[in-house]
Amino acid sequence: MTTFSTTPNPNPASPQRRQEILDAPGFGQYFTDHMVQIQWRGNVEAGTGEWEQPQVLPYGPLSMDPASAVLHYGQEIFEGLKAYKHGDGSVWTFRPEKNAARINRSARRMAMPALPEELFLDSLKELVSRDKDWVPTGDGQSLYLRPFMIANEVFLGVRAAREVLFSVIASPAGNYFGEGTAVDIWLSKNWARAGHGGTGNAKCGGNYAASLIAQMEGDAHGCQQVIFTDPQRGNAIEELGGMNVFFVFDDNTLVTPELTGTILEGVTRDSIIQLAKDRGMTVQERAFTLDEWRDGVNSGRLTEVFACGTAAAISPVGRLISDTEVIGPDDARPGEITMSLRKELLDIQTGRGEDRHGWLTRLA
Ligand SMILES: *Cc1c(COP(=O)(O)O)cnc(C)c1O
Repeated sequence: MTTFSTTPNPNPASPQRRQEILDAPGFGQYFTDHMVQIQWRGNVEAGTGEWEQPQVLPYGPLSMDPASAVLHYGQEIFEGLKAYKHGDGSVWTFRPEKNAARINRSARRMAMPALPEELFLDSLKELVSRDKDWVPTGDGQSLYLRPFMIANEVFLGVRAAREVLFSVIASPAGNYFGEGTAVDIWLSKNWARAGHGGTGNAKCGGNYAASLIAQMEGDAHGCQQVIFTDPQRGNAIEELGGMNVFFVFDDNTLVTPELTGTILEGVTRDSIIQLAKDRGMTVQERAFTLDEWRDGVNSGRLTEVFACGTAAAISPVGRLISDTEVIGPDDARPGEITMSLRKELLDIQTGRGEDRHGWLTRLA
């Protein structure tokens, strides 16, 4: 167990204020009383460096030099996972070792230092133990954990930064999209979020920045989400701005885009593949094109589409909309398999269902 040096927040939220927030947390608007910080100094190129004393500090603004590398060259990566309070008051999270491994894959791509997995997990445990009262207990509610890493070396030269900060903050969360309503998604034809050899499979802020213009385009057409394709592979479907995507066929088959390096390897994606296999479904990870989507809907063989990620768990997709066509019925309703996979996943995460794969880790 890592030892953290702790500075308790001298002005924590009052129990009354905290309860107000937990009654209607929304998403990503309110933060708990503390945060974790661990500073690294070293040289990624030379393979040297060390993580300094892990700290728990009062939640608050970072003091940063305007010449900090992240502000100029965007060396930034992050993670997202949820903690749930179970019936007995204990707090658990879902497959955090996957996030620990992924932040290191992202770090490698972005020329940032690896973080020992134990330090990642201990940071979550430390923060959640300290701010345990911030874990909401309402249906579908959780404490969203946001680990992130930024280059905070003060230097405008272009190279891998030699000072990096790892931090974890936590934010009580309600239901991301509300309860299982089908969302329309916009097909981005003008913009890509990732390209071959790029950073599509790293969880970095830059990918999100690149997706926002497409999301604005979608917003303007009444779509809550946007989906990207790979024009170099016959418009193979990739993923949404921050979620992976699945297609359900009437012959008990589930199809999801294969990981080509331009798609983020979601923990939710991986878990759904397992749950579907457990049910005896055939799961195919393969190229799946826009034409197949259209043909599947027209023939009636493609019966359900859903998106998935930690924030929204599983979210039914209604129509796919572009400037030239609409694919899917106007009255799309959440599909049966979509909603049953969603329930199974949420039951495991919230401790209502059996954790038969050992996916849960106790945080507090
Ligand atoms: C985080 C993320 C996902 C979902 O990953 P989960 O591990 O399931 O939360 C999907 N796509 C992108 C681009 C992401 O950043």
